[in-house]
Amino acid sequence: MATLWHVLGAGSLGSLWAARLARAGLPVRLILRDAERLAAYEASGGLTLVEHGQPQLFEVCAQTWDADEPIERLLVACKAYDAESAVSQLAPRLQPNAELILLQNGLGSQDAVAAKVPQARCIFASSTEGAFRDGDWRVVFAGHGYTWLGDASDPTPPAWLDELQSAGIPHQWTPDILTRLWRKLALNCAINPLTVLHDCRNGGLQAHNCEIAMLCAELTDVLNRCGQPAAAEALHTEVERVIHATAANYSSMYQDVAHNRRTEISYLLGHVCAVAARHQCPTPYLTQLQTRLVGHLQSRGLPTD
Ligand code: NAP
Repeated sequence: MATLWHVLGAGSLGSLWAARLARAGLPVRLILRDAERLAAYEASGGLTLVEHGQPQLFEVCAQTWDADEPIERLLVACKAYDAESAVSQLAPRLQPNAELILLQNGLGSQDAVAAKVPQARCIFASSTEGAFRDGDWRVVFAGHGYTWLGDASDPTPPAWLDELQSAGIPHQWTPDILTRLWRKLALNCAINPLTVLHDCRNGGLQAHNCEIAMLCAELTDVLNRCGQPAAAEALHTEVERVIHATAANYSSMYQDVAHNRRTEISYLLGHVCAVAARHQCPTPYLTQLQTRLVGHLQSRGLPTD
């Protein structure tokens, strides 16, 4: 019998994965926060995936964290700041051969999760797919992309990559997942906080070339200092390319702040500043950027961690 896919968190990415796995006939269970959320989900009849404007309902079974079904494969699809505590709750259900796939953006949460479940294999993911919720239990597939998966401590690809293939989830196994996560993190640090502080779309940063250049120089230093030279290569050029290519978009951090949602700052800019401090790498502009961003979040009554 096929191994169950337990999906922790029925938000944007969790629902997008769960719906596509279910559509391919694979067995999926959603793990929801509590009994109240479970009752609301069951009353809704299932998960709705909206693709190319067409909604399709999937009757994926759901449960709460305290169900007694053993877990062999767990897709962790909550925000970085929820991942460690959400996985800890599930630790007693994890089988000795359990595999976790961590979809969190940024860095820091993956190691925190892995430390809580030393018996499990933790596979890190970095995704360029885009999805958002336009209602409870309803997800819009907004941006086609790719998900890179890898395990820094074991290059053997898991057997279930075939299942992603059959579910139409574009993916690639990579031995360099940390390089990908660091590169994405550096791009995020150079772009997202400034879009919040300048209240602009990504393209608006074309008017702030000097700030971008100084941030890229410091980010390059940090990456080189912490053993990630490949993630540092031509970073400034790549940041400028992304700003140009996504000029009309609002960054994810911009959207979080605009919707009064908690940001993942501690796992993005906060993580880079902490790593820089650990390596005694001076980063005055990054530190100043973090101070400004924290002040901005405080002024809007949003969490600063
Ligand atoms: P999201 O829409 O906020 O979904 C997170 C879900 O996790 C929510 O449904 C939340 O439940 C659930 N959750 C939190 N704690 C839980 C717990 N203890 N038990 C069960 N469920 C729990 O977030 P997202 O946009 O999918 O993002 C997930 C991660 O993927 C983030 O790190 C994000 O940066 C990254 N990412 C997202 C996208 C994207 O396009 N959305 C793209 C690339 C990367 P409630 O509904 O009850 O609050």
